[in-house]
Amino acid sequence: MSPLLIHTRHFPPHRYHAISIFPFVFYNGQPLTNNEIQHETIHLWQQIALLIIPFYILYLTFWLIFLARYRNFDMAYRSIPFERSAYMLESKSNPKAFTQAFHWIKMVSYKEKPQQRPKA
Ligand SMILES: [Zn+2]
Repeated sequence: MSPLLIHTRHFPPHRYHAISIFPFVFYNGQPLTNNEIQHETIHLWQQIALLIIPFYILYLTFWLIFLARYRNFDMAYRSIPFERSAYMLESKSNPKAFTQAFHWIKMVSYKEKPQQRPKA
C-alpha cells in the first residue's frame, strides 16, 4: 500500500512529523524518509485491521495508561503497542500486510521500558 501523503504547514502539531488518519498521512516540514513512510503505512494497516475507529479508541486508551504510569508524554507515546510495533517494523523490507496489521498485539505484553529521547 502506498499512503496518500499530504504536506501541511501546522498538522500534525510541532512535536510530531507525521500522523496517519486513514487513508491519509499528514506531515509537516521535511519530506518523509522511507522508514517514516513505512512507519505510517504500518499505522494505516493497523487502522484497517481494527476497522478504523476502534484503533483510535485503543490508541488513546494505551496512551493514557502509559501516561499515568510514566508521567512523560514521549515515553507514553513510545510505549503504545501500535508505536512499538511500527518502530520495530519500519526498517524491515516489505513486511507482509498481515504482519503490519497485527504485530502490535505481541507488543501489548512487551515489558521493556522505552528509551526517553534526549532533549534537543
Ligand atoms: Zn507512529
